Amino acid sequence: MAFDMLMNGVGNAFAVESWGTHFLLQKDDYLLGVDCPDSYRRALRANGFENADGLPLDVDSLDGLVITHLHGDHVNGLEMLLAYRRYIVGEPLDLYMHPQAADHLWDRRLEVSLGQSWNGERHESLYPEDYYELHPIPWETPVEIGPFEIETRKTIHHITTMAMRVNDGDASLGYSCDTAFDPDLIDWLAKADAILHETSLGPGHTPLQALEGLDPEIKQRMRLAHLPDELLDLADDTDLDFAEEGAIYRVAGSP
Ligand SMILES: [Zn+2]
Repeated sequence: MAFDMLMNGVGNAFAVESWGTHFLLQKDDYLLGVDCPDSYRRALRANGFENADGLPLDVDSLDGLVITHLHGDHVNGLEMLLAYRRYIVGEPLDLYMHPQAADHLWDRRLEVSLGQSWNGERHESLYPEDYYELHPIPWETPVEIGPFEIETRKTIHHITTMAMRVNDGDASLGYSCDTAFDPDLIDWLAKADAILHETSLGPGHTPLQALEGLDPEIKQRMRLAHLPDELLDLADDTDLDFAEEGAIYRVAGSP
């Protein structure tokens, strides 16, 4: 068994050469989004990906969405995604988050803009359940999402952020999300068949040089994302693989 990772954005928060890091996991006709940067609908069209019906990817193709943390490059697109799901698609979104991040999502990010609507005569109040169904994912507790089982782990980052391991019962993917260099986290991710790890600048992120020092067996199963524009020129100078926008990476189990 195997599943596909549709790599739709590989950039960091300030990148202009790439979309903010986000991807979609596709198995059979189930599509799970992971993170949601600015201009999300436009980003979904940027790489020519198609849904199971052969139509261009759009917000109505999503069966669920994981939000790893509340930094804008991972969540800024959510407000309009949710509005589109309510007013155009007419179907709430299944949203998966850690409870500590979810606690802030409505009250401190979405309520100010999505919490009321003018119906032509008066303002109506709207609530989270008008837009999404929240499914909390506690740390290190496997949760079923469609054909996948997902486990999460807290990373070393500025705010509460989840790394995750996704498996379909055979093949598995480990995703660091945003994190300072954390050998324990890398050990945890390395239990998966394939690894997507961040590299970026600043104390809340992982320097490229730290990953270059890892065991070769781990490095050959690893691709890098969350790339600052400044790092793109180093792609040919490192023995690590940079993930590429528009690529479909097949995640397959060990033979
Ligand atoms: Zn972040």
